[in-house]
Amino acid sequence: QIQMSRIDLLPKVTSYLSSPKQLLIDGVFRDATDGRSFQTIDPSTARPLVSVAQAGIDDVDLAVAAARRAFDEGSAWSRFTPRARARLLWTMGDLLEQHADEFAQLESLDNGKPVGSAKEGDVATAAELFRYFAGWATKMEGTTIPMSSDIREFHAYTRREPVGVVAGIVPWNFPLVMACFKVIPALTAGNTVVLKPAEQTPLTALRLGELFLEAGLPPGVLNVVPGFGDAGAALAAHRDVDKVAFTGSTEVGKKIVAAAGGNLKKVSLELGGKAPNIVFDDADIDKAIVGSAHAAFFNQGQCCVNGSRLYVQRAVFDQVVEGVSRIATAIRVGGAFDPETEMGPLISDEQYTKVLGYLRDGAAGGATPTSGGDRVDREGYFVRPTVFTNVTEEMAIHQEEIFGPVVTAVPFDTVDEVVRLANNTRYGLAAGLWSRDIGRAHKVGARLRAGTVWLNTWHADDVTLPRGGYKESGWGRELGSFGLDDYTQLKTVIAEL
Ligand code: NAD
Repeated sequence: QIQMSRIDLLPKVTSYLSSPKQLLIDGVFRDATDGRSFQTIDPSTARPLVSVAQAGIDDVDLAVAAARRAFDEGSAWSRFTPRARARLLWTMGDLLEQHADEFAQLESLDNGKPVGSAKEGDVATAAELFRYFAGWATKMEGTTIPMSSDIREFHAYTRREPVGVVAGIVPWNFPLVMACFKVIPALTAGNTVVLKPAEQTPLTALRLGELFLEAGLPPGVLNVVPGFGDAGAALAAHRDVDKVAFTGSTEVGKKIVAAAGGNLKKVSLELGGKAPNIVFDDADIDKAIVGSAHAAFFNQGQCCVNGSRLYVQRAVFDQVVEGVSRIATAIRVGGAFDPETEMGPLISDEQYTKVLGYLRDGAAGGATPTSGGDRVDREGYFVRPTVFTNVTEEMAIHQEEIFGPVVTAVPFDTVDEVVRLANNTRYGLAAGLWSRDIGRAHKVGARLRAGTVWLNTWHADDVTLPRGGYKESGWGRELGSFGLDDYTQLKTVIAEL
């Protein structure tokens, strides 16, 4: 009953969706212990796609036990050399590319993002992640360190060892990419993994698990347990999990920190954001307008680093707001499989209701939508890209992460004022600015309290670049040369000669 627009579903996608999906535990696909399942929904139509086994606490226990056995000394995985891990990861990059259309379609059905964007963005990035980390598997070096002693002679060195069983808990906005952010560095370093995809988007993570088995990953090294917050909470509290790597909301991140206290497991967190995007009056205004619209609306606005607070210097405020609003109005909103679509639906009924609530509250509080401000009158969870003016600092639409295609525009006069306003948030994930004065751009960039700062661009990234949050946007950094630190322990060895 999948309602299609114009791009046809591949036969293998139709066939994948024709049977209920199961949990992947210890190399075997199986139902939940208590037999529960849930429906995953196509946000373009608001209709169910397929039934998925729902992991409960017993399944989490089984998955963690399988991951522990797979990690333990003498296991097939423990005997994988760094080179063997590198080869497996490289093979996975190739396999994923061979299945790029299939993964893109599954992602679009489950998440609602336009299928072209899923293929060229999400799937391509995931394949690149495999190749990038494949290179690191053989390069996790320790150091030899001089010791000072007048009496005896020593030799001291460090080793980087895997942490053990890693739980990856991920959100729905980039389901495959977020899964890969956790699974790939964890495996690169020799850990084993229990992955809990978001309940809204379990499909590509499960399919990825199949590909891993095809590529020769031993059973139990990667377990995939779709489920809800209770399954995530069980992982975060589990005494036999050594590390939890989480991407999601700041609220759940705090719960994970509390739950992790039981066995003091390591925790890395990539949390929410409310990024300030600053346009100075000396900027290339046309470029700043296009870039600011991209900053605000990419991925239906469901992006933790979106530029959702737009600060514009007063002389160019009207021009920039008018330009961004014009682009917002022209964005073609539609189903994920319509080739004309530039912006798909929001992920879920819950998110749709939440975003519409912010649109209503913003207008009721005196803010003025200069574009959008409303839902699209069709089935599915579609909202019009929205720009609000007449916004005050205290308004909820300006302070809280909406996670939808909504941007609040505020004028400013001086550099000190805008730095203060930009940093006036509990978040610190991303920030950016537009100016032709390169000195000022770097100086202001240094004053912005955020893990990523974009100058005269937005959303530009690469697997080589570390990312993460200041303040309540998280702990640790992912990707780049720092991306393995959170998945390894440093052992110091001291020998008397
Ligand atoms: P969420 O925090 O509600 O859910 C994320 C994951 O946590 C899901 O798998 C969910 O099932 C699980 N979960 C829910 N309750 C849990 C609990 N008590 N213990 C353990 N796990 C639990 O977030 P969401 O609504 O799915 O995603 C949107 C949020 O994710 C936004 O706040 C966004 O900023 C953030 N996000 C951050 C980044 C980043 O890189 N910093 C990237 C994408 C999304």
